[in-house]
This record gives sequence, C-alpha cells and structure tokens, in this order.
Amino acid sequence: MTKKKQHEEPSCSIEANSLNEEGTSKEKVLDNEPTKMDVESCTQNPEEETTASNNIDSRGFDEFGFSEELRNTLSQKGYNSPTPIQKAAIPELMLGRDLVGQAQTGTGKTAAFALPILERLHNDGGPPQVLVLAPTRELAMQVAESFRSYAAGHPHLKVLPIYGGADFRYQINSLKRGVDVVVGTPGRVMDHIRQGTLDTRALKCLVLDEADEMLRMGFIDDVEWVLEQLPSDRQMVLFSATMPSEIRRLSKKYLNSPAEITIKATSQKENLIRQRFLIVQNSYKIEALQRVLEAVSEEGVIIFTRTKVITLTVAERLEAIGHSVAVLNGDVPQNQRERTVERLRQGSVNILVATDVAARGLDVDRIGLVINYDMPFDKEAYIHRIGRTGRAGRTGEAVLFVNPRERGFLNNLERAVGQSIDRMEIPSNETINTNRVKRLQDRLLKEVTAERENHKETDILNELILNMEGELNIDAKQIALAAISLSLGKNPLLENGDESWIKQSSQRANRNGRRDDRFKKRGRNEIDNGQPDNHMERFRVEVGYRDRVKPGNLVGAIANETGLKGRMIGRIRIFENYSLVDLPKEMPPNIFNSLKKVKVMNRELQINRN
Ligand code: AMP
Repeated sequence: MTKKKQHEEPSCSIEANSLNEEGTSKEKVLDNEPTKMDVESCTQNPEEETTASNNIDSRGFDEFGFSEELRNTLSQKGYNSPTPIQKAAIPELMLGRDLVGQAQTGTGKTAAFALPILERLHNDGGPPQVLVLAPTRELAMQVAESFRSYAAGHPHLKVLPIYGGADFRYQINSLKRGVDVVVGTPGRVMDHIRQGTLDTRALKCLVLDEADEMLRMGFIDDVEWVLEQLPSDRQMVLFSATMPSEIRRLSKKYLNSPAEITIKATSQKENLIRQRFLIVQNSYKIEALQRVLEAVSEEGVIIFTRTKVITLTVAERLEAIGHSVAVLNGDVPQNQRERTVERLRQGSVNILVATDVAARGLDVDRIGLVINYDMPFDKEAYIHRIGRTGRAGRTGEAVLFVNPRERGFLNNLERAVGQSIDRMEIPSNETINTNRVKRLQDRLLKEVTAERENHKETDILNELILNMEGELNIDAKQIALAAISLSLGKNPLLENGDESWIKQSSQRANRNGRRDDRFKKRGRNEIDNGQPDNHMERFRVEVGYRDRVKPGNLVGAIANETGLKGRMIGRIRIFENYSLVDLPKEMPPNIFNSLKKVKVMNRELQINRN
C-alpha cells in the first residue's frame, strides 16, 4: 500500500462551559446567550507529520456537516482532524453565530473561521459577501491564500487581498469584475469603501483577525469606521491573541451575543520556546549579538530592533562578518518584502533584521531563534515577536537583550508569557570556540559519510592522498589537517577577541541583581512582618495585577465609597491576585460591608482584615 504523509489528530480535550447563568437549555444558549469555551491548547503540532494509509480520511471533520468538496480538500491538504480552536469555533460559526476567539497564530485559527464561512457562502457573482480585516499586508496575503486553498473545490469563488502599497487600479478592476471574499488592511479597505469601489451592502460576514495588533498599530479608529459602514445583520468574528480592554469594548459594541472561545494555556505555545535574557550595556550590544549568533547556532534567525535605522546598522555589521542577512522594515517596498520572506523561507537568507511592524504575522517555519536586540515596546509585542519561532509545533529559542536599566520590564514579560525567562551569560570565547569545534566536527562527519557523486574526482583525490603518503612520506593526519586549514581559509578557527567587557558587564549585572533581590526581600518583609502605622489597620482586597489594577484605582474606589480623603488611605501593595491596603482603624461596619461589594477593574473588592 502506498504511504502518504498525513497529520496526526491533536490529542487535546475541549471543555465547553455555558455562560448562561440561568441554566437554560443548550438550545436556548445557542440562540440567545453567549457561550464561553475554554479550550485546552496543546503543544502538538497540527502539522506534525506521520505516515498513514492513503485512504482519504478526514473523519475528524465529519461532525461539522461540511460538503464533500471541502472534506476532500482538507484531506488532500493532510488535515486529518480539527485543532482545538477549530473543534470549538466551527460548530458555532456554522450556525451563523458571532464569535470572539482568543487565540494566536499557529493554532489553526484561520481555518477555524475560513472553513465555516466558505461553507455558508453562496457563490452568486454579486458584490462581496465576506470581509476579513487583518493588520498587515503579509497577514492579509496569507489569509487570502488560505481561503483560496480551502476553496479549491469551488474554482469560481474569487478571493482578493487588498492592502496599501499595492496597485490601486488592479484592486479596483478586480473588485469590479466581482469578488466573493475580500481580505484587506483597514486603511485600504476604508479607501475603497469611501470611493465606492468596495460595495459592502451584501456583506454577510466580517472577520477581524489579530484585532489586538490592529489596536497596537493604531488602526482601531479605521476598523470602527469600517464596522459602522456594514449591514447590521452581518455575522461577525473577532480573533485576538490578547484581549486589551479596547478590544473587549469593540466586541461588546459590535458583536451580537457572541460565542467566546479561549485557547486556554496560551503559554503552551511559548512553552515550545526556550526564553532567555542577557544583560548588556547598549555600547556592547552588537558584539554581544555576534557572540549569541555563534553560540546559539539556530537555523533561521529574526533579530528585532526598535527602529529602521538600527535594522540597517545591525545588518551591515553582520554582513561584514559573513552572515547572509536581509532587512525587513517599513522602507522596504512591498514586492521586495515578499521576496525577502520567500528567501528566508527557502534558506537562501538565514538572518532577518526587522522592525516589529514589518515582521508582523510573519509565518516561516524554519525560524529557530528570535533575538530581541532592542526591548519590545510592550508585552504584546514581545509575545508576537517570540511567536515567530516555535512554529508548526517546532521548538524555538528566544533571547532578549536587556540593558541594566531595563531589568524592571522582565517581570512584566514573564507575567505575560506565564513562564520564567532565564538569564544567559554573554557567550565567552571558550563557549564560542567549543561550539565552533563542534560545528566543524559535524560538518566533517557529514562530509565523510556523504555519498560522493563525482567518482572521477574522488579517484583523483584518493590517488593524490596515496601519492603524498607513499612518495612524500606525509601521513594521512597531516594531510587532513592541511585540508581543514585550507577550508577554513583566512577565518581563524578560534575566537580570541577582547572579552574583558563581558566579565565587567556580568559583575555589574550581578551587583544590581543582588540589590534588586534585597529590595524585593525588604518589600516582602515589610508586608509580611512590618506593621501598619499606629492609627491604621491592614486590609486585603481581591484585585491584583492580574486585573491590571493600579493604586489610583483602589484609592479612587475606596475614597468614593467611604468618603475618606485620598491622603488618609495608607500604604497600598499590589500582588498577583490580591492587594493589601492600610486604612484608618475602626471602620464602621456598614462602610466595611458596602466596600465588600465595590467593584474595581470589574471585580468585587471582597475586603477583609488581613
Ligand atoms: P494558523 O493558526 O491559521 O496560522 O495555522 C497554522 C498552521 O496550521 C497553518 O500552516 C495551517 O495550514 C495548519 N493547520 C490548520 N489547521 C490544521 C489541521 N486541522 N490539521 C493540520 N494542519 C492545520
């Protein structure tokens, strides 16, 4: 029997909880009430390859009532069974419900919305029925391409990506000829709607993909403008990796009793990525970068910098020492960007130096290492950056460069990814040299065991070695050594550059680290053992960092409810799940009780004496 590569069914459980507090029936829930599902994410790769029989088998997708054409297409693509997000989202979307999904790229979210949308489409040659908004041209192109590939069984279905930087005329002509699915970036979609070239009257479904990215990139007003132009009875789907309050607001305002799906442990994906940081002063960053590239020799590297100018300086330095490098920043024209990403995918370029915006949504499986050369602007940016590796179920490495003054941000990032980011030392000469020797050995081994295709040449080389051994009395070891030296050329095998600065940075970082620890300890002792001032009492309230509460929120809420002046409220300490607040002694019981119910950041204080 012939064997064919197929995809293993992800072994993940799905848990669906109705949000319907009245306990009404499931049917009622589906009709009227929001449904919330927490879906266990899994580290299993939807693309993990395994061999299976050649029978067309997409039983995993049978339960959704998909057409035979679509099931065949999925089977041909090797989609054996739905990923968790697909299992949860597809039934809801097939019913025509609105949906909010919290999921990152790599979870199969594109198919989660594209498949049911395609199945519900009526290809009638009229104006567009589906509009997908995506933050970047790259993502718009990828999503459009996914739609096309899933619609292989419907050759007449037209999908058009529209984004800035591409030819306007071409887009207008295509839209005129008739398009069923438009995938676009907010600005360009807005332009087309404004000038009447994108007719939205027949739109039945709108998808906001990577909504948090659109917010981050400042597109949210454009998105809202587009939303206002659409028919009110359209189906709407919103996907976002994180759920900032602005996105929640948007979803409350524009979605109609949506099903809510969360890929629970979003950190599962990050778990595939080994995350480390190193402390380096700005003036030594480029040296540190060269050393990291030598020591963590991964296939496919993306280096994130803060500005376009830095992408260029970094790329120039790396090119000068022999790396194959390309740059992706806002100044690179669109067609060149696509070529660059393709070269990275093919491996003809190994290192990409990019700004956040330019590399948004970039999906290249062979990225093994992400270097945050500059600290990301915020934790969402960090999550997106490191998400460029560990793709398609592979493991990846992420290294964050932190200058001594930026150490404080680390906690935030660790909280955001739900795992610790471990310290690594800047690789010393010794580490680099051990690596170089190991790599040389690997290359030699590969060459020794490789089948030599040019037999004539091999014979001549063998004869040469024999002659040298016999006639010139040079032993094989000497010849091998000479051959290796020749292959190394002018590049010395061993690194012996100045490394005194590494030790100095490390000592300084350790000193600062100890000081940080002392601060932390002192802080903890003050809370655990230190007493509040004489006239104060310490209370515990059940809101904390996880709710993004700030001292001002607590002061405001408590002052409002108790009538206390802000300055009478004492020390406030915020922890992950709760906070401690010092308040004047002898609070009247009625005020104490009413404070219990006061909500801060949408959570009741549930105040208690500590
Ligand atoms: P996405 O999260 O949409 O970026 O998808 C990540 C990758 O998973 C893409 O390369 C998809 O082709 C692939 N994929 C999506 N769904 C499945 C599935 N059910 N089985 C196998 N691969 C899938």
